[in-house]
Amino acid sequence: MPYQKELNIALAAVEKAMKLSLCVERRLKKISVIEKQDRSPVTIADFGSQAVINMLVVEAFPEDVVVGEETAENLRNDQNLSNQVLELVRYAGLTATPNRIITCIGSSTESAAFSDRFWVVDPIDGTKGFLRGDQYAIALGLVEQGEVVLGVLGCPNLPARLDRPEDEIGCILYATKGSGTWMRIFQSKADLRVFVDSVADSRCAKFCESFEKAHAAHETHQRILASLGITTASLRMDSQVKYAAVARGDASIYLRLPRKKDYQEKIWDHAPGSIIVKEAGGEVTDFKGRALDFSTGKTLRNNSGIVATNGHLHRRVLDAISRVIN
Ligand code: AMP
Ligand code: MG
Repeated sequence: MPYQKELNIALAAVEKAMKLSLCVERRLKKISVIEKQDRSPVTIADFGSQAVINMLVVEAFPEDVVVGEETAENLRNDQNLSNQVLELVRYAGLTATPNRIITCIGSSTESAAFSDRFWVVDPIDGTKGFLRGDQYAIALGLVEQGEVVLGVLGCPNLPARLDRPEDEIGCILYATKGSGTWMRIFQSKADLRVFVDSVADSRCAKFCESFEKAHAAHETHQRILASLGITTASLRMDSQVKYAAVARGDASIYLRLPRKKDYQEKIWDHAPGSIIVKEAGGEVTDFKGRALDFSTGKTLRNNSGIVATNGHLHRRVLDAISRVIN
């Protein structure tokens, strides 16, 4: 299978990063609200997760570049932060030194050739969800010539089945180009192929969007939904877990219209999720129906808004968007 080595490394890296993030989550549950408002727990988990992922990817593919949200600057200047990250990385099972961590995080270089091959990582996607104890994702993708060819989404708080939230919690969704989308359930270690739902009547569609109002124009989404005849409540979730929800049929549509017209979506917020929906049989474009172009830098500057659907509804959703947004 193409990308088998890349997939094995990506899965191992995301699993280790999940172990690390769950450790910080357990600590978060113990500390007070005031301390939670301080960003430090997120910062430590962010750096730790990115360090683990970058170390494993760079070791296996020394020629490759990893583009991530974090830079090494803060770690270099903060001994206390650096020590806490080191402790977490060791907890995740890696042998490391502070210098090695800084070098690896620094491999998220500015000099990436975005038109060629590069990895992209969001070490804790949905930090607000992470702090709330809700959904978040550890997201890793591989891009070649502007196209995503591999995506892994570690979802530590996502139940294997949304309708059974008390059952098995924690799964990883993964996809490589041409090989479908799979879900690894954390507890049972089962790997199942997943598919988008088959809803073709828009009135029966389930819809998901960001939990955070600041991240997407919920009121405009509502007008688009009204135009499609959707009356059921929206599923609001943080992070790329929304792509996972569409990929396995928990939702048929995910919309993300930025509040500010000039907001450019970050590549690490969409690369892994988009292939996971596509390989499950769905479709992902921007609000104008254009393919997402990952070749232009750290942001999707050739795109505006995100539409992910089960495929059957895609045209209809784009039509509704053009009716509502002139
Ligand atoms: P979500 O949980 O889906 O709302 O997405 C989380 C991501 O939203 C973060 O990784 C940020 O990169 C991104 N983000 C932050 N501010 C904004 C904004 N004003 N509009 C859209 N996305 C944002
Ligand atoms: Mg993110």
